[in-house]
Amino acid sequence: MNLTTDRKIQWCPGCGNFGIYNALKTVLEKAIDEKRVKQENIVLVSGIGCYGYITNYYHLNSFHTIHGRVPPLLTGIKLANPELIPIGFVGDGDAFAEGMSHTIHIARRNSNAKLILHNNGVYGLTTGQFTPTSPKGFKSKSTPFGNPENPINPVTLMLVSQATFVARGFSGDIKHLQYIFDEMLKHRGFAFVEVLQPCVTFNNTYQFYKERVYKLEETDYKIGDFNLALQKSLEWGEKIPVGIFYRSELPTYEDLVLRGLDLFCDRSVLDLKDIVKEFI
Ligand code: SF4
Repeated sequence: MNLTTDRKIQWCPGCGNFGIYNALKTVLEKAIDEKRVKQENIVLVSGIGCYGYITNYYHLNSFHTIHGRVPPLLTGIKLANPELIPIGFVGDGDAFAEGMSHTIHIARRNSNAKLILHNNGVYGLTTGQFTPTSPKGFKSKSTPFGNPENPINPVTLMLVSQATFVARGFSGDIKHLQYIFDEMLKHRGFAFVEVLQPCVTFNNTYQFYKERVYKLEETDYKIGDFNLALQKSLEWGEKIPVGIFYRSELPTYEDLVLRGLDLFCDRSVLDLKDIVKEFI
């Protein structure tokens, strides 16, 4: 299986989006070849940002939606057809500025969908403004004297929002990202993966991360202990952990909603017009 399309990739040479794109492509192609997933069942959704073009570069069904609204689409797709595998891409502005509430709600609902965060700490498409994950003191076009705000920690936020799979990778380590994406794909429930990625044009963090990231799997870290995951998520400085922080199995949002609907009616003969009539 080759998921490459004929679209010309628009990103700056060296952009961290390439690592994410290539790692996921390899994982999806392998999963399709091994018949673990069907090509026609994967639905990609991206929001607004340089990374948003990513849906053009995979030969898969996709939506390119509005800023901050990737999570509701993922939830809706899965509810409408539970056979589908919705995979969303969000930027740090998308996820934590325009779409903050949606990011929290999809996690606490445990929708059976995947969400990949391209975290470069800057709005690249609009030529370099600070975002909710930019470090304090970060100088940008919109913060010429340094960012006065504390950054959001995506892993901590997703843990306390009750996501059932929380991981972090680095776009400069494609092999490790493939491992994380493969585990993400296997997870039944809401899976969140933060990817630390440089924006080589407006916030080149490649060397910064390269010198600091270390893999949780190469330590005695045990996945599944929530308190430990929370504690580990706060580690940020000379050392930055990457890998799977937390995983647990719980009923999904679709399990609960569709089971409730089945008690109420026969879904096979459900006519949406009858429901809409109630509201007009
Ligand atoms: Fe990538 Fe930054 Fe270039 Fe956008 S501006 S394509 S995020 S390097």
